[in-house]
Amino acid sequence: MPTQLEMLVKILKLERAQGGKDAAVAGGLSAYCQVWAPKARKQARRPPHHILIDEIVDSLTHYDRIESKDERVHQLGYLLDRIMNRVPPPPAYQERLLVWEDKMKSQAVEQPQAPPANLRKHADRRPSLPKPAFIEENDAWDQDYAAGPDSYQLDIKSLPRLDRPPRPPRPQRSLDEERALYQELAQPTTQVGGIGGKLAGLLAGMDLHTVEDLLWNFPREHKDYTELKCIRDLFPNETATVMATVRRSTVAVGAGGRRDLLIEVEDGSGSLSVRFFNQYFLSGKLRPGKQIVLSGKVGIFRGLQMANPEWEHLDAENLHTTGIVPVYRMTKGLRPRLFRKTMKTLIDDWADRLPDPVPRAALDRCELADLGWAIQQAHFPQGWDHLRHAKRRITFDELLMLQLAMLRNRREWQSAPGPALDIADDFLESFISQVFPFELTRAQQQAIGDIRRDVSQAIPMNRLIQGDVGSGKTAVAAVAMAMALSNGKQAALMAPTSILAEQHYRKLSETFGKMKADQLPVIALLTSSLTASERESIYRGLADGSIDIAIGTHALIQEGVLFHDLALAVIDEQQRFGVDQRGSLRGKGGNPHLLVMTATPIPRTLALTIYAELDLSVMDEKPPGRQAVQTKIIDRIARERLNGFVIAQLEQGRQAFFVHPLVDESESIETVSAVEAYERLSQVFFRYRVCLLHGQMNPLEKERVMADFARGEYDVMVATSVAEVGVDVPNASVMVIDGANRFGLAQLHQFRGRVGRGEHRSFCFLIPDSADISIDKIRAKQDGKIHESALTVPEQRLAAMEESNDGFYLAEVDWKLRGAGDLLGRRQSGNNKAQMIELTAPQLVELAQREARTLYEEDPELKLPAHQLLAERIAARYADSGDVS
Ligand code: ADP
Ligand code: MG
Repeated sequence: MPTQLEMLVKILKLERAQGGKDAAVAGGLSAYCQVWAPKARKQARRPPHHILIDEIVDSLTHYDRIESKDERVHQLGYLLDRIMNRVPPPPAYQERLLVWEDKMKSQAVEQPQAPPANLRKHADRRPSLPKPAFIEENDAWDQDYAAGPDSYQLDIKSLPRLDRPPRPPRPQRSLDEERALYQELAQPTTQVGGIGGKLAGLLAGMDLHTVEDLLWNFPREHKDYTELKCIRDLFPNETATVMATVRRSTVAVGAGGRRDLLIEVEDGSGSLSVRFFNQYFLSGKLRPGKQIVLSGKVGIFRGLQMANPEWEHLDAENLHTTGIVPVYRMTKGLRPRLFRKTMKTLIDDWADRLPDPVPRAALDRCELADLGWAIQQAHFPQGWDHLRHAKRRITFDELLMLQLAMLRNRREWQSAPGPALDIADDFLESFISQVFPFELTRAQQQAIGDIRRDVSQAIPMNRLIQGDVGSGKTAVAAVAMAMALSNGKQAALMAPTSILAEQHYRKLSETFGKMKADQLPVIALLTSSLTASERESIYRGLADGSIDIAIGTHALIQEGVLFHDLALAVIDEQQRFGVDQRGSLRGKGGNPHLLVMTATPIPRTLALTIYAELDLSVMDEKPPGRQAVQTKIIDRIARERLNGFVIAQLEQGRQAFFVHPLVDESESIETVSAVEAYERLSQVFFRYRVCLLHGQMNPLEKERVMADFARGEYDVMVATSVAEVGVDVPNASVMVIDGANRFGLAQLHQFRGRVGRGEHRSFCFLIPDSADISIDKIRAKQDGKIHESALTVPEQRLAAMEESNDGFYLAEVDWKLRGAGDLLGRRQSGNNKAQMIELTAPQLVELAQREARTLYEEDPELKLPAHQLLAERIAARYADSGDVS
């Protein structure tokens, strides 16, 4: 149980975080300290502790009379510093301490031994503060206590700190010995002690098949038994962990004969009731007297109550060795404590002999931990620093290998010559002026310049265009395609959905249709909805060169598709494609130039790393005349008013999107709820024409709805996330996103990008559907009343949407909020070892990038003995997808 002093520290910090409102404890700090002091004195054992308590009480007694909040916050800071002994005590207390210390010294002189070292060291400067015994019995520990060399030395087991990861000497092993270890790692999980067929089956269900899978199956989180809360400090609605003793336990019969287990737990600071619905059978385990750890949300039901919290018996070993306990992903039938034990044994077995593919020199340069150590600490950390170093190392590996694999690919691609195109100035100029009714933006011109330079060389182009939504990437693609056409060669464009492919087909047909009659290209649309004979005839046309431009979906990379002379492959919205699909399009003929376009801006550093094989053009400018989309988070109850607003827009001839929440991963459920929303909104907007678009409609139907909406035959579109990318309807001015908290920031920005594409003022409404989102809190942050860190991640995302229309800025925010995981798109690739990558910090990405370049420059094929293991790991890792681009 935390000591009184620790509880006070928590309260002081909370009070400081709240800006000195004197609201951290009911009744205020001044009153609280009167209650606190006697309890603290009971724990205090030696004079200096009592002196400190006196000082605290003296300081807090008048706290409520301090007028200025700044002054209060200042005083809190000072008091915290004092408690941590970061600053010397004021003279009055100092004197008392010195008196006491002199007494100690005279006692020490009477004894033959010298005084303790710390007493000697500080005696001439200021009174030393010996270990405060009154913190002795507790298990909780606050990082700040370890603030500096002069901080309190606690008698409790403290979490060790670690500035640099240790790097013990590596075992001397031959390459063959290392390979044998990798073979052992590839053994099925049944080879692990304690894992039988049944458990292995459960693990296989979680995609854990080999020993290596287990070692890289990192905990979902770590529970910090050192960050426990006292029951009396709990707030309603917060999620907290408490450690307590079961006092009473009863089975209550509820409605319908349901039998709940009701227990009351107590931790010395207060008691809490806990209800386990329908789980009366737990009564045998949760008997009075048992010590348990409970985690869950604090609700209110005749006082504070937790309902169905996660719980476990206090594991004395965990608590006393580290205080930080791994929490693994679970599946039905898997027993947490047993599994944790199995993992511990396995990891201890491997920690000292795990082969480490990253060259020692690289680890030295980057100050990274050894792999065995990192794996061990990632599961069972000795302290938070240890965990941080471990995650750094493991994430670094992911990034480094990815980067090296891409550099390798780039080298391979560019080793075969590509078609050098010849582009005349006057051709480009006349094409542009013929087909576009607008002037190109500076960013568009620049991107076109980059492309032109690339394709006129015999080295195949690898270019990524990063542009915010609405920056006009399609026009750039059209110009690039025209470059291929003017050389008598073919071009292809691949889009992630048929809706998008069809839209591109329509728009590009219109664009190229403005060319001179004798230059008109033949354009074909290839999607999976074609009949067999239609498909065959397109295949023939592509193969004999009578089709100049192919636009399509994945259908473009099916077997059977072969080009006569493909000079340029364009991939739109590439973030939607799996890593291997891009390479396939390239394989469809010769060695074409590749142009990749993404509308999910990612920070430049990250782009350079994860697309290391691509050159980058950034389009950070929108066509003139566009206004920022006004974005507002609104409450569900404001729906009526919102509907009124939408109607006013429809009356002006505008159109509106309603994006429906992604209720579940499953598309069918998403569809059902979209259909319901469609029915509801059809009633609300009964005077208008409402249409529905969802992923399970057949492609023809989707195309028809989309085209009709684009032509203005519908006023309102209700859609699932299929509306996310690319859809271009300049007349639409309202985007309503239901369940906005369920979407990622990039996705939200994409949705919003569907409006504000024309000259009309446009609006985006974000409607959260979770009780965890507090709009009031978001407003308080925006007014500067609370700090950003007080917001949850979904709240910060929504706030960022309101605050900015800039995709690049939002990408930075997103990166900070969630790490690079989603940006890297590894989720789709199903690589469960990539879990850790989510924590990727920008600075770590840069480090890995630098290191990969260094290694690459030194030894591009990774042939040196020190690099061979790494080369093999990269080959093994990326063997299945073949292609990491
Ligand atoms: P995105 O970059 O999101 O793919 P699009 O290529 O779909 O954007 O272009 C968005 C809209 O802007 C289209 O309607 C397009 O015709 C228009 N547009 C593109 N370039 C310009 C420009 N330079 N000036 C005016 N409008 C433009
Ligand atoms: Mg686009």
